[in-house]
Amino acid sequence: MIPAREESIDHTLRRIHARIAAAAQAAGRDPDSLRLLAVSKTQPAAAIASAALAGQRSFGESYAREAVDKITALSALNLDWHFIGQLQSNKIKQIAQWFSWVHSLDDLRHAELLNSRRPADLPRLRVCLQVNLDRESQKGGLQADQLTDFILACQGFERLELVGLMAIPAPRPHFAEQRASLARLRILQAELRQHGFELPELSMGMSDDLEAAIAEGATWVRIGTAIFGARHREETPVPWT
Ligand SMILES: *Cc1c(COP(=O)(O)O)cnc(C)c1O
Repeated sequence: MIPAREESIDHTLRRIHARIAAAAQAAGRDPDSLRLLAVSKTQPAAAIASAALAGQRSFGESYAREAVDKITALSALNLDWHFIGQLQSNKIKQIAQWFSWVHSLDDLRHAELLNSRRPADLPRLRVCLQVNLDRESQKGGLQADQLTDFILACQGFERLELVGLMAIPAPRPHFAEQRASLARLRILQAELRQHGFELPELSMGMSDDLEAAIAEGATWVRIGTAIFGARHREETPVPWT
């Protein structure tokens, strides 16, 4: 049930890479210092396979059950899977087992569960802490002033590797406003570094604010619709995932 798409995934991916390269150049950054996460939530396995054929390796998913179906169906392709959705306790075991990254940690009980469920034969699970930059109650994420305590509380979790910060800022139409908002995540990262916490990764930037995110130091941009086209169904808040 693949909808008519104006362009092939191969073509849209090449366009995104061109946008990334142009934004990196404008920011004086090495394009190799940032990576593209193709957000494939709600997209069928066939679309992911097409992107893989075009060279894309890392994919972002938001719904555990749907993701595990696709991960197992595509296991022969050896892809790199990142969980970017809201975590739920009853899905943590699957997430710890099937993903190499989680971008959306914001709850210590989830950290503890991810740590205890991460299989011993896999590398440590790489984790970004989600920050709620705009204090939006409908979105997940830690408040900025909670980060230090959260990181300290995670230090005993040996199966997790805290590597960075992630944000989904409120949409803003203009480049300058997008930058100002995303700059706050970069500044938080710098403040944490001054306190001795190295969190090199910044997961920020989506289809509409990719350039602003790269200007502000994103290391992972998470792009869905600009690669795959419109999503196949409306995103539903968690319950049935
Ligand atoms: C869906 C989603 C994206 C991708 O958004 P697009 O606007 O389709 O590029 C990025 N990050 C998160 C956390 C998402 O849920």
